[in-house]
Amino acid sequence: MYLNRRRLLSLKEQDLEENINKISYDIQCLEKLKPQLQRKLGRYRDLRLVVEKINKELSLEYVVETLISLAFEIISDKKALTCLYLIDPSTHKPILTSTKKQDDSVVIKSKEGDIFDYWVLKHTQPLLIEDLSKDFRFDIEKIKKDQARPISSLIAAPFVSEESVLGILRLDSQEANFFNQDDLSFLSTLCDLAAVALENAQLYLKTEELAIHDDLTSLFTKGYFLERLKEEFPRALREKSRHSLMMIDIDYFKAYNDKYGHSAGDAILKNLGMMLNEFFEDRDAVVCRFGGEEFAVLLFGVERKEVQDLAEKLRHRIQMQKFIIRRKETFITVSIGTATLSPEVLDEQDWLKQVDTALYQAKQKGRNRVCHI
Ligand code: GH3
Ligand code: MG
Ligand code: MG
Repeated sequence: MYLNRRRLLSLKEQDLEENINKISYDIQCLEKLKPQLQRKLGRYRDLRLVVEKINKELSLEYVVETLISLAFEIISDKKALTCLYLIDPSTHKPILTSTKKQDDSVVIKSKEGDIFDYWVLKHTQPLLIEDLSKDFRFDIEKIKKDQARPISSLIAAPFVSEESVLGILRLDSQEANFFNQDDLSFLSTLCDLAAVALENAQLYLKTEELAIHDDLTSLFTKGYFLERLKEEFPRALREKSRHSLMMIDIDYFKAYNDKYGHSAGDAILKNLGMMLNEFFEDRDAVVCRFGGEEFAVLLFGVERKEVQDLAEKLRHRIQMQKFIIRRKETFITVSIGTATLSPEVLDEQDWLKQVDTALYQAKQKGRNRVCHI
């Protein structure tokens, strides 16, 4: 009986010993993991702060720069080449928007994404390549030929909003096994959390652009034009520049609308807008849709004689231009007023009044002509 108890105790002692060893081994492992876990915790704390910050921001440039810097610094410790692509909504192609790199001599050959970016786009999923030479998903020989820089490992993740990809954030390194699963998880979380901020900033930019550009013709809006005029007038006065204004109005446009309908009228306005843009393309000029069927142009460094000649050339070109409406050819004419800046002009309102008077005279004299003040 006594012996049995002793044996039992000794067995228990052995058990305990084993457990102690196991626990001390676990402690050792956890000790080793501790700095790694602390680093991870730090990373996610930084991420939270950044996401809070960019969600309050509406500048696309700021959002892009913040995201790319975070990835470059925190994931790669400023070592890996980091690229942020935004997807062009009309072509659906990735457009290289910002890069961060340690070595400035590194060249990025493909500004519209490469095979890896297209993989992310196609699968709408993050991508981790630990060692490209052992990854059978990609044709290594072809990649070597296409890439200007060597790549051995890579991580990339998409910014996804309601099923569509807004962009891609990607890091690549010449070193194999530079990235691991943890890095990829971090990058994916970053992209998931930032997608909304990115979308908001893109929408905001679009709204701002819309306010500058007219919806129908894509020319500048009257608001933008007046702002520019206000800005340029005092400078022109100081520098004694000879700028000119042109005001163009379609003749009897109401009759076109009545005859062909409003949408046909819109098509004419759109085409005329394109013509005007093309006509002034090589000049330093601000072309705007001033109102319904009225257009204004601010021409920098153009003198009295030159603006008159230019207006006459434009008037003639518009008169000769065929417009196809309901499969029928039609033509329009315009009346144009011009006014050149002189020391007598009081302010930008006065200048505008002059060019308006010139246009009125052109209408009075029978339309389809140019008048100058
Ligand atoms: P005038 O030679 O004196 O300039 O005659 P007009 O008919 O061109 O001038 P009016 O100012 O009487 O009429 C301008 C017309 O332009 C009125 C409207 O039907 C048309 N218009 C203005 N804005 C638009 C637009 O955005 N789309 C279309 N389709 N028509 C427009
Ligand atoms: Mg008119
Ligand atoms: Mg008018």
